[in-house]
Amino acid sequence: MTLRPMNIDPTHLFIAGAWGPSLGGDVLPLLNPSDGSTLCHIAKGSAADIDAAVRAAQAALDGEWGRLPAFERGRILARIGAEVLEHIDHLTDLESMDVGKPLTQARNDVIALARYMEFYAGAADKIHGETIPFQDGYTVYTLREPHGVTGHIVPWNYPMQIIGRSVGAALAMGNACVLKPAEEACLSALAFAEICSRAGLPAGALNVVTGLGAEAGAALTAHRGVQHMSFTGSVGVGKVIQSTSAQNVVPVTLELGGKSPQLVFEDADLDAALPFLVNAGLQNAGQTCSASSRILVQRGVYDDVVARMGAAYRALKVGPAAADLNVGPLISNRQKGIVESYIAKGADLRMVAQAKIASDAPAGGAYVAATLFADVPPTHVLAQEEIFGPVQVIIPFEDEEEAIRIANGTEFGLVASVWSLSGARQMRLAKRLRAGQVFLNNYGAAGGVELPFGGVGLSGHGREKGFEALYGFSTLKTVAALHG
Ligand code: ADP
Repeated sequence: MTLRPMNIDPTHLFIAGAWGPSLGGDVLPLLNPSDGSTLCHIAKGSAADIDAAVRAAQAALDGEWGRLPAFERGRILARIGAEVLEHIDHLTDLESMDVGKPLTQARNDVIALARYMEFYAGAADKIHGETIPFQDGYTVYTLREPHGVTGHIVPWNYPMQIIGRSVGAALAMGNACVLKPAEEACLSALAFAEICSRAGLPAGALNVVTGLGAEAGAALTAHRGVQHMSFTGSVGVGKVIQSTSAQNVVPVTLELGGKSPQLVFEDADLDAALPFLVNAGLQNAGQTCSASSRILVQRGVYDDVVARMGAAYRALKVGPAAADLNVGPLISNRQKGIVESYIAKGADLRMVAQAKIASDAPAGGAYVAATLFADVPPTHVLAQEEIFGPVQVIIPFEDEEEAIRIANGTEFGLVASVWSLSGARQMRLAKRLRAGQVFLNNYGAAGGVELPFGGVGLSGHGREKGFEALYGFSTLKTVAALHG
């Protein structure tokens, strides 16, 4: 298979500006989540390929890329953004097919990728150091410099968006990147590499090595030539990456998911809240780090919210990505098994509603009926663990104190939202909720390329998106001159 119209061979890696097979020549099958068939094969990159990619990145830093002024890096990012939009239809099809995402959701991801490039294009020459008043006879200033070679390990749920936010910010600051996409979904990473090349990104500034996490991913994390690691994925692998990076004393940015709550108070505008309550849990079939999987509802409106959400679930359609329904398949039948075992753990709970899977959905696809539970005790496993599938739990609360206690009562802290028309309550909760982002009378702010994002607790640390990411992808040098 060749990825048209870009003529990419997905069994090739992108290293030093050139496409070629892995050094070992091995390949892996890439499965179509909508029907379980083999879409194509991808290269199974090894430690030797990672080593070649890290060397290519270092050579780029020592060469043309390392010498480019910031505004020129910005111009290249702007061209990449324009190329992404030029190929929006192709990229939408690719991401939809590869991830199993309904077409409309995949298209939004392409737009987000372009937005990251536009944002970081404009930001590239706007980050600078400071002069610091010091003792007589000195001039002291700081320089913001790239880390050097940055490693980017990306998951399968939002490849384009996560590449956009992490590689976009890293390139803006002048780093050279080695990207290891997930073995379950990596076609858009390959297409992105080709787009970067066409947009004039110097050879070696971005290198893409596909392969297994335990092989290529582990080799990238352990490589002594990498000066910063950014990872989005599971808590378990995040811990491995942090401890491996610690051996090289390399900083890491970890974004590890959550159990994000929406708090619905009696004075909320329920008509405004309802679409957010449901969609924030079911976008990308619930396989979203910032998915809202817990809905906390005050007693006075509890029955109303449960009834309305139940009706919304019964109206949902689940089916193949290309049919562009509300919910697509999960990434794999393995993931489907994990999510179904969680649903089974809810056998003791009140199941309010389950969505219908389209009767013509292919048998080999990884479809799970979106499921809504109510009256769920806050300590129940379904209210504590990240399910990463189309499952939401509704939990009642009496008052603000109890709502805060339940909302903060998991090990995660990525996103939270408050639905209430009381301004004072909004301000109080914005301070007391344990999360990296708090939304007031909305959820997610439409992705918010400009808005710093990241977690506390098991949700990880470090901030991506917005200007904040540029500080994370750079290091500060202090220069003190004694001149008398
Ligand atoms: P999920 O459980 O959702 O599949 P993972 O955390 O396993 O997510 O995977 C996210 C990314 O981490 C993927 O690109 C995967 O290849 C990579 N990965 C998995 N295991 C390791 C590892 N031991 N070291 C480095 N990267 C890994």
